[in-house]
Amino acid sequence: MSRRFRFRVLGSGSTGNATLVEAGRTRVLIDAGLGPRILAERLQDAGVDPASVDVVLLSHEHNDHAKGAVAFTKKWGPRIACSLGTGRVLGLAAEKIPGWDALEPGAALAVGEVVIEAVPLPHDAAQPLAFVVRHAGRAFGHATDFGKWTKPLVDAFRPCDALLVESNYDPGMLKAGPYPWSLKERILSPHGHISNADVGRFLADGLGEACRRVVLAHLSQQNNHPELAQQVAEQALSRRGRTEVALHVLAANGGDAWHELEAPAPEPARPREQLRLF
Ligand SMILES: [Zn+2]
Ligand SMILES: [Zn+2]
Repeated sequence: MSRRFRFRVLGSGSTGNATLVEAGRTRVLIDAGLGPRILAERLQDAGVDPASVDVVLLSHEHNDHAKGAVAFTKKWGPRIACSLGTGRVLGLAAEKIPGWDALEPGAALAVGEVVIEAVPLPHDAAQPLAFVVRHAGRAFGHATDFGKWTKPLVDAFRPCDALLVESNYDPGMLKAGPYPWSLKERILSPHGHISNADVGRFLADGLGEACRRVVLAHLSQQNNHPELAQQVAEQALSRRGRTEVALHVLAANGGDAWHELEAPAPEPARPREQLRLF
């Protein structure tokens, strides 16, 4: 089994989200919020044959996460996996796609060399999910589009070696910005989105000891700046003395480079027997 485990953001933000996870010989696309042609191009730019994707995981049905899923799977052949609620809203049963699997929150799905765990999220969608992808003793956690940190999510993320998390808005910018009040209320609600400050609180109080890499994604173009998100997260990590954690912030709508999950630390060698000198 190849131990390679890495991920690459192909799109982030309201214009379309997609992240490729490569673990051993298995390729998992998390969300397909870009058109099928752009998705295929971005995969090819990353040196990945679109036909080699094994499964498309959908976090929820919103357009910026699911827009390209059906057309992509019809053209390139992977199955879709998502919650029953998401599958129903997208009408997957009626689509002539290669097939889809319903992910039960809390249950695990094995695909090739990975095991995928689904975690329920609070967001204004039918049945939204976060994911933990496990391979060769390591784990990658992915959560965008959620209104607050819940215990099941923090618990599921605790053993993860790397995380991709949304850092959607700066509360001051959102409140002073041009959005209608109803939309501001939706974003601020426990079923809306996570702010920079919410991310900071998690990094300070909930981040597991194993985590070495955090990517902040799905930043609002209107209500956030990458520098602001970075500053809040950096301060939270340094307050906890977690300077070993590599932090990476994605500009709205940006793609990205590969992020590698480090190989697990070797078992500590048994201390050699003390030389008896006297
Ligand atoms: Zn979204
Ligand atoms: Zn959403």
